[in-house]
Amino acid sequence: KPRDAKDVMELCKKYDVRFIRLWFVDILGQLKSFAIHVDELEGAFEEGMGFDGSSIKGFARIDESDMVAVPDPSTFTLLPWRPKEKAVARMFCDILNPDGTPYQGDPRYALKRALEKMKKMGFTHFYLGPELEFFYFKSDRCPEILDEGGYFDYPMDAAEDLRRDTILALESMGIRVEYSHHEVAPSQHEIDLRFADALEMADIVMTYKVTVKEIARKYGLHATFMPKPIFGENGSGMHTHQSLFIGDKNAFFDPNDKYHLSETAKQYTAGLLKHIKEITLVLNQWINSYKRLVPGYEAPVYICWARRNRSALIRVPMYKPGKEKATRIELRSPDPACNPYLAFATMLTAGLKGIENKYQLPEPVERDVYHMDPEERKALSIEELPGSLIEAIEYAEKSEVLREALGDHIFNQLITSKKMEWDDYRIRVTEYEIAKYLPIL
Ligand code: GLN
Ligand code: MG
Ligand code: MG
Ligand code: MG
Repeated sequence: KPRDAKDVMELCKKYDVRFIRLWFVDILGQLKSFAIHVDELEGAFEEGMGFDGSSIKGFARIDESDMVAVPDPSTFTLLPWRPKEKAVARMFCDILNPDGTPYQGDPRYALKRALEKMKKMGFTHFYLGPELEFFYFKSDRCPEILDEGGYFDYPMDAAEDLRRDTILALESMGIRVEYSHHEVAPSQHEIDLRFADALEMADIVMTYKVTVKEIARKYGLHATFMPKPIFGENGSGMHTHQSLFIGDKNAFFDPNDKYHLSETAKQYTAGLLKHIKEITLVLNQWINSYKRLVPGYEAPVYICWARRNRSALIRVPMYKPGKEKATRIELRSPDPACNPYLAFATMLTAGLKGIENKYQLPEPVERDVYHMDPEERKALSIEELPGSLIEAIEYAEKSEVLREALGDHIFNQLITSKKMEWDDYRIRVTEYEIAKYLPIL
């Protein structure tokens, strides 16, 4: 792994790199990329590369739009789907104002700021293991599936070569994969990443999504992280396993606790539970995200935690009970169409609030909450996640935790952009309404 500009220049010579793609994301997590020639590299490291911020979603207004992208040398890798001769590499960038200060609209900066706060509280690592699910379709025009396979099915699985090529490509970029398999829905798949520190993991998630899409494209197919592409089938989640470490000590682990969870882990979990409605706009940011968060499809709806029960919002995995390094909690609501930088920043901020204010963790709910009747849920004080984008906007708008996690600039831009999206959606007449109402009304 390169450490500085000098290492990067050497690697460029060694691997015949001609082009370097500079990557960053807008506030909705769409990847932005521009290429520079290898001869520009020195200047890019010293002064950054200028671009027009007013054309990037959620960035600057037109009258203050000069921005600078400065590559982070530690993120340098070759792009394996590009030619080996006169090769192409990429680096993630930090976005700065022309005066050299960090740009408040840069999601990578928002995550760095949340991690600073974590460090001030005495933790050194925020480890994350996201499980991204996705579908392969024949094109991006309609969700036409490739196979009828289900969970762990084999050989009723049209994608073994696709997954193999994807994993080998990830491996060549230094990204470690732990599991891969056919998922529950037809043509749905999962490739699980080995855990990493939050900032590195956010970069990895972006790279993973591009890689899955690029490899699919080589096969003439379309890969999608859309949360719920097919009605009546499971949607795609991004369950996120998380823990806080101090050096190599897991701050979430207590061998003497019934659940092997420390007080810190419980307070963190309580923070997530208490603030989840406010941060859902970031974890589930599209109209379509809320079509996934419904009962019956292994996606969470009810705000509670459990050890085994997969209908809960937060689960404490018990594959290796009592093993310090593996002790973690799993938040099951995020979907892979989120902005990973902002998603990780908001989870962390909500969890840290729980630690700061010593929130009390409610009792776990080990029963299937989908099948409880509403009175039972009420008696147990089990609340629900926002049911639609507009509900999520309403919780978000009032949230101090969310404002702190995103910073004023991104917070305001996100709320404005999401309200526009909702207004655009709510005036449409859908196929559902035509089929349901036209014949009878
Ligand atoms: N696809 C489910 C979701 O939407 C998860 C299924 C699973 O991984 N067991 O979260
Ligand atoms: Mg999984
Ligand atoms: Mg899964
Ligand atoms: Mg999971």
